[in-house]
Amino acid sequence: MLEGGETLGGGCRSAELTLPGFVHDTCSTVHALALASPFLSALPLAEHGLELAHPEAPLAHPLDDGSAVVLERSVDETARGLGPDGDAWRGLFGPLVRNSESLFGDLLAPLRPPRHPLLMARFGLSGLRSAVGLARSRFEGERARALLAGCCAHSMLSLRTPASAAFGIVLVTSAHAVGWPVARGGSQRLADALADHLRSLGGTIETGRLVESLDELGGGPVLLDLTPRQFLRVAGDRLPDGYRRRMSRYRYGPGIFKLDWALDGPVPWRAPEVARAGTVHLGGTLDEIAASEAAATGGEHHERPYVLFVQPSGFDPTRAPEGKHTAWAYCHVPHGSTRDMTGAIEAQVERFAPGFRDLIAARHAMDSAEVEARNPNYVGGDINGGVQDLRQLYTRPVARPVPYGTPAPGVFICSSSTPPGGGVHGMCGYWAARAALRG
Ligand SMILES: Cc1cc2nc3c(=O)[nH]c(=O)nc-3n(C[C@H](O)[C@H](O)[C@H](O)COP(=O)(O)OP(=O)(O)OC[C@H]3O[C@@H](n4cnc5c(N)ncnc54)[C@H](O)[C@@H]3O)c2cc1C
Repeated sequence: MLEGGETLGGGCRSAELTLPGFVHDTCSTVHALALASPFLSALPLAEHGLELAHPEAPLAHPLDDGSAVVLERSVDETARGLGPDGDAWRGLFGPLVRNSESLFGDLLAPLRPPRHPLLMARFGLSGLRSAVGLARSRFEGERARALLAGCCAHSMLSLRTPASAAFGIVLVTSAHAVGWPVARGGSQRLADALADHLRSLGGTIETGRLVESLDELGGGPVLLDLTPRQFLRVAGDRLPDGYRRRMSRYRYGPGIFKLDWALDGPVPWRAPEVARAGTVHLGGTLDEIAASEAAATGGEHHERPYVLFVQPSGFDPTRAPEGKHTAWAYCHVPHGSTRDMTGAIEAQVERFAPGFRDLIAARHAMDSAEVEARNPNYVGGDINGGVQDLRQLYTRPVARPVPYGTPAPGVFICSSSTPPGGGVHGMCGYWAARAALRG
């Protein structure tokens, strides 16, 4: 395995971005999809040092009235906090959670006849809708609508786009079914466990080895963890014109602006139950979140952006010196944006946790350009390896019977620009490897 960066892990790396003793994840932290993944969950990663830490509740969503909606591990407990929408929550998620293993097996795969057609039909009836459409038709109260909207917004799509509900349904189902844990000690531990496992099987790893051309690589199948734009560069003239043209039409989505903080104490949430959660969605109501996501996908910066906030040190104390804490947050911004969103993000945290700014001992900021500079797979700051709308979810990187294969013999693509798309689940690599083994 050849890695261009000086350290291993790509979207699963940790570093002391702020002060000594504070461990920050430069990218992913919450590993629900790793647990839901049929492939990663089957690997003996615990034997290679991986320990998962679960927060008491996967997610909290504070509101302006001082209360918070909590996504609990249990469907029933969550439903109890949703007032009139409790039954609708149970009706939507109960059957999916009860059959989650089958559901994830079908969803975390390329387009193929589903193994569980009735279950997939049930999922599709809601998942193919827009997040706004689903939330408004299934729920009457603001609490359930907001909770669902925050989860759907991980899609980086406008919440009025068809199928923008799918991402949220998958995330909520994973929260109920397997939880939203973090790797104790930082996400780097997950990458390190994978690397250790690979070495134990006889694999070799070289870091600091940025591959510029396919000509540098020997014979045998080659799997490239690259998005289309990088692949075109590296493959040079080995690709026919028609394929190149189709690849160059691949669409990338909005970027992110991310902050990492070293904190002098726990976040002073106005609603105390927010402290029980690992992830916090800051953005108020469905309408507000929808407006924020419409702006980012439409090329604009929103003054009050929807903010995805993660506070791992509350349940993984290895991440900060005693009594101190780490947290990170990002908001979606237009593709390639270099606008400083520090003030806007911190204002959203202050809105639900007055006094937060006073706790900041140090901060580290990354705009979309820097996100890409640190990892070339995040083109323009797009952390999903390209737009994940209906048109591009299964046709990533181009429509082909085996999307992982390319016209260059023995060359396969295994990045999140292949199905099933972004997130730390390892399934793009798994399916690409199966395609490579078939030849
Ligand atoms: C801030 C942030 C937060 C996130 N949070 C979560 C989360 O909580 N949960 C979750 O599931 N997902 C999360 N994600 C998304 C997730 O990290 C990505 O979707 C996923 O890592 C993409 O996988 P990938 O294999 O396509 O690319 P990566 O994991 O980025 O790996 C690509 C690797 O290839 C290397 N590379 C690129 N070009 C070359 C080259 N030419 N030669 C050699 N090496 C090269 C890169 O250095 C990198 O190591 C987050 C991402 C970011 C940025």
